[in-house]
Amino acid sequence: MLNPGATIGILGGGQLGRMTALAAARLGYRSHVYTMEADSPGAQVTPLVTVATLDDAAALAKFAQTIDVVTYETENIPLAAVDAILPHAPVHPGRDVLQVAQDRLREKDYLRGIGIETASYREVAGAASLARAMRDLGGRAVLKTVRMGYDGKGQAMIGPETDAERAWAALGTELAILEAFVDYRCEISVVVIRTETGSVANYPPVENQHVNHILDTTIAPARISPELAMRAEAIARHIAEKLSVVGVLAVEMFVTQDDRLLVNELAPRPHNSGHWTIDACPTSQFEQLVRAICGLPLGSTERHADAVMKNIIGPDVERWHEFLGEPMTKLHLYGKRAAPPGRKMGHATRLLPRR
Ligand code: AMP
Repeated sequence: MLNPGATIGILGGGQLGRMTALAAARLGYRSHVYTMEADSPGAQVTPLVTVATLDDAAALAKFAQTIDVVTYETENIPLAAVDAILPHAPVHPGRDVLQVAQDRLREKDYLRGIGIETASYREVAGAASLARAMRDLGGRAVLKTVRMGYDGKGQAMIGPETDAERAWAALGTELAILEAFVDYRCEISVVVIRTETGSVANYPPVENQHVNHILDTTIAPARISPELAMRAEAIARHIAEKLSVVGVLAVEMFVTQDDRLLVNELAPRPHNSGHWTIDACPTSQFEQLVRAICGLPLGSTERHADAVMKNIIGPDVERWHEFLGEPMTKLHLYGKRAAPPGRKMGHATRLLPRR
């Protein structure tokens, strides 16, 4: 167990790193943020900051000397960076889950391998193989880069009329995945937390509404039947156990029209759809992460309120004061200076009586 006073290394300086550092501070831990930008949201909340790229071996080695445990706030972390740190300190939620979650093909292959349902998909490695995959899957589909995609980046909608040559050239990648389009009833996610000794906890499934491929609103809990909620929770816990996660794992799923659950994506880190837990639960997803990686017992995931979390995106941040006028809404701003369209600037959680 790492006692309060120990230092947690956080790879990545975005809002997830920031909120993790804030939760760590509340429990008396220090955070050392490893970030590419000096004034990043994570770097603003702790004096221990390394500004370097993730391929800077010297900076990683120095960072590794200063921390007792490491976590990451994004799955886009090169495995080589993790390998550079591992001789000095544990890296959680883990190397294996990182490797699976940072590659959409590996992720879907892995999920199928442990008996989890996903959308139908094909590996695509060129225009001819895209044309073949389009014929195989038939109808509408979504073409995604295998790596580094988020918030709809590196994605294209494909229809029967799509020109495979042109779509492939526009994606600009060497390896991609073509997924059958899922005509889903809703999108949900489950945030699950697991400790090294195998304790597992989860928050209830929440419902996620996207606008322009970016999460816009999370409704907690999801408006689905108790039976479906139980199945979703069981799927998320199963994946966390199979991947020996130590920390937080978010599992995104589609609910189909006939009530099947198809897993779309894994995120081995706190998740945007779990931000509501800061204000509506005794223990937030960020505190659970700190507890799990420091070997502390997990906190309660019971909610004392229902919640609707709204992301504040791009220039909308100028309307921050409107949220302050709502008595049961909690405003969170990430301290980002520039607010281009699509950038997550903050979020606001409205608390509601429990249903
Ligand atoms: P992803 O980057 O995989 O999380 O995808 C971003 C968003 O695109 C998802 O939250 C869905 O709204 C949509 N999407 C992704 N894959 C599919 C699919 N196979 N069928 C329908 N919608 C999808």
